[in-house]
Amino acid sequence: MKDFLNFINGEFVATGKTFDKRTPVDNSVIGRVHEAGRSDVDAAVMAARRALKGDWARMTVVKRTEMLYAVADEINRRFDDFLQAELADTGKPHVLASHVDIPRGAANFKVFADIVKNVPTESFMMDTPDGGKAVSYGLRTPLGVIAVVCPWNLPLLLMTWKVGPALACGNTVVVKPSEETPGTATLLGEVMNKVGVPPGVYNVVHGFGPDSAGQFLTQHPQVSGITFTGETRTGEAIMAAAAKGVRPVSFELGGKNAGIVFADCDFDKAIAGITRSSFENCGQVCLGTERVYVQRPIFDKFVQALKAKAEGMKLGSPNEPGVTMGPLISAEHKRKVMSYYAKAKAEGATVVTGGGEPPMTGALAEGHWVQPTIWTGLPESSAVIREEVFGPCCHIAPFDTEEEAVALANATDYGLATTIWTQDISRANRLAAQIEVGLCWINSWFLRDLRTSFGGAKASGIGREGGVHSLEFYTELRNVMVKL
Ligand code: NAD
Repeated sequence: MKDFLNFINGEFVATGKTFDKRTPVDNSVIGRVHEAGRSDVDAAVMAARRALKGDWARMTVVKRTEMLYAVADEINRRFDDFLQAELADTGKPHVLASHVDIPRGAANFKVFADIVKNVPTESFMMDTPDGGKAVSYGLRTPLGVIAVVCPWNLPLLLMTWKVGPALACGNTVVVKPSEETPGTATLLGEVMNKVGVPPGVYNVVHGFGPDSAGQFLTQHPQVSGITFTGETRTGEAIMAAAAKGVRPVSFELGGKNAGIVFADCDFDKAIAGITRSSFENCGQVCLGTERVYVQRPIFDKFVQALKAKAEGMKLGSPNEPGVTMGPLISAEHKRKVMSYYAKAKAEGATVVTGGGEPPMTGALAEGHWVQPTIWTGLPESSAVIREEVFGPCCHIAPFDTEEEAVALANATDYGLATTIWTQDISRANRLAAQIEVGLCWINSWFLRDLRTSFGGAKASGIGREGGVHSLEFYTELRNVMVKL
């Protein structure tokens, strides 16, 4: 039986209390997770605080960034270990984790190592009242101990997206992975030791949210800032914890993203794009498209083509060749998604395809599988159009005008992402300026340049990370004024 241990001050730490980690593929137990209690979390935070003052602080930026390159190289060297850990935890298809999750996990260290070496700070020469001169300049210092609270949908990718820039800026971190996905964060501890990252710089505490490691960590007074990815209502709880001591937060939260498809789109590319954005990772992507609006002349054709794509998805275990869709993460999440499938039917949806459980056989019958699902015909007030389902599903509705498409896209509390499909590039850019989101894709989806901003508007988040925006969060900017 595998033990998922905490990683505190460079050492793997067992605790007296464990819970089972089950794989969503067949619900079998794959390991025991050692839950961190309040004292374990305190040990991790205090180790991180001490490390802020030690070798890590004395290290030159060049040396520190070389170390982050070494972390990335070591992830790549142990690519298969990370891949199998992610597959075991999440059940996602091999093709997805090997092309997206693990490579991005490594890239997150290299990109931010490069960025910190190349970012200038402001500097001004000014006249002083006594007729002299002064020079003022900006100085960036680490924010301190960063709490990194992570979700389960893209475990390594989303964790390193925070750990990479935090360490590049000279901070130390305490990571709280999701209770559903303890694997890759723990493995990263081995990598940190191997490449010589000083003890206490990277720490991992396992457990749940309320009354567990998540809450103990975010409430800890020695945590300087909290970066969190997860549900909006969890963000509200963490924000309340951060209010004590007025600690800064960076939040990447839920979404209810619209895809807008105009009649003049490149049809095959739009279908391929919406297939990915609605069904990839079994729909468990914050940036996913659960509301699709299609211009009326191509509505019927679009619905039929997307139906064919959904019905062509191959469900199965991660390492099975040709598999394109895995299970949902947990029994609890399956219950939630199935409740939305039931609500859609009760509200009178036309179920174009799916809407239930697929017929899985053998051990897989115990896994958390749901069918990729498409609905039409619901009013905009329906629960599956208003609330984030986080499953492989979308509702498709027709629209006539550009103005109508904008109004429909914006009629939500969320504001994370949108994807627009049209060959009229002027119209695409007009929409990009009007849709209230942090991320707008035109004729693409989930295409990312890590030097650019990432984050959500409205209830989808607070702040931006990515490129220099990450530096804004992970550093304090000090103004130094020098009288000449
Ligand atoms: P979640 O909010 O349930 O949990 C996220 C993390 O927070 C977990 O580690 C959990 O243990 C911890 N947590 C829960 N309650 C806590 C509390 N009171 N105090 C401290 N920590 C607590 O989210 P999830 O179910 O793991 O992930 C799915 C959600 O994440 C979806 O809403 C999705 O849209 C969102 N998400 C957003 C982005 C983005 O970039 N905007 C990316 C991925 C996922």
